[in-house]
Amino acid sequence: MHRRIELPAIARTAPLAAVFMLATVVACGDSRGTTAQPAAEEHVAHAATVQTASGAVGARAPNEMGRIPVLMYHLIGDKESSWGRERGNFRKDLELLYERGYRPVNMVDVLDRKIDLAEGLSPVVFTFDDASPSQFRYIEQPDGKLAIDSTSAVGIWLDFAKSHPGWGNKAVFCMLPAAAAGHAFFGEKNIEGQKSAWRFKKVQQLAAMGFELCDHTLWHAQLNKYSDAVVQEQIARGLMAIDSAVPGYKVRSFALPLGIWPKNKALAKSGEWTDPKSGKTVRYDFDAIFEVWGTPVPSPYSPAFNPLSVQRVKVTGNSLVATLDHLDKSGERYVSDGKANVVAGRRLRAARAAHAPPERRRLFYRAPPFRVCAPIVRRTTAKMA
Ligand SMILES: [Zn+2]
Repeated sequence: MHRRIELPAIARTAPLAAVFMLATVVACGDSRGTTAQPAAEEHVAHAATVQTASGAVGARAPNEMGRIPVLMYHLIGDKESSWGRERGNFRKDLELLYERGYRPVNMVDVLDRKIDLAEGLSPVVFTFDDASPSQFRYIEQPDGKLAIDSTSAVGIWLDFAKSHPGWGNKAVFCMLPAAAAGHAFFGEKNIEGQKSAWRFKKVQQLAAMGFELCDHTLWHAQLNKYSDAVVQEQIARGLMAIDSAVPGYKVRSFALPLGIWPKNKALAKSGEWTDPKSGKTVRYDFDAIFEVWGTPVPSPYSPAFNPLSVQRVKVTGNSLVATLDHLDKSGERYVSDGKANVVAGRRLRAARAAHAPPERRRLFYRAPPFRVCAPIVRRTTAKMA
């Protein structure tokens, strides 16, 4: 049952009146939406007729009707696990993407069709879920100043960017302000050495650096278990917490905990909740909803692009290499033409589809043969030390 958490202000973690545990539950979500986006004004780039070549950046034929990988990470740490990426492998992921001509963009860039990349480069969207210290950790210096831990995801990212021109601070952090085990704006209560007082500073710093902030509920409630009212409270309080840290920040994306939709699916996109203490009503209306499994998403110029069901590639093992290989071999990869207001590949793709043999007319990416299930991080009243 839902347990009311007393938060004097939204972003404060719940008091430890109850004992919490980190429960690992496997659950799956399915959500193939059908909302189509209106097509943009049509332009065709001449470069689209260039022969595709593997290898050097710039040799790829522009194709802005192609697919974009949205990657999903959780823990970044000492070892590989179902929901963890070993930090050395995380660094290798960045190297791999860079070498293969990918550059990070925020989800809002995709939503707004402002993928500003040079010709031959491809966008990739990174998402980090659950706001663990492993993603963003501080180390307190002897003089009291805070340094970003170079072994946390943000530290690795910033170090990588120093030696890789064009690797910007673009990634989406789908955060929890008040879940268990330090999943509270990247740490609290000295978990992994992180002080509770640092939480807002981290969120502020992420936004200031250019990263995108995303809601992931208050404490990772499995939304299909709760009433409409609780669903809206969970989402709204996640949003309020971000607003408390970065006042006025417009959060445009929401990640479903476990990829599970509320019974009333519409409440994942929009709703409202009134704080009984202040009487203030928080309303939300997201432009993008992240799932927890899937394959690269269609171009935002494609009618098949559905921002209210953004599938993500879980990066584990060699899944990233396999995904990138697949995109190249299939010709489905989004490749920028370097020109604003020109959508490379639209007409070419349509012509190819019309003349392709029937067996090749199907969409390359179909529903994967498996479901990816997410761990749940939530508060319960169950016993635990
Ligand atoms: Zn999560």
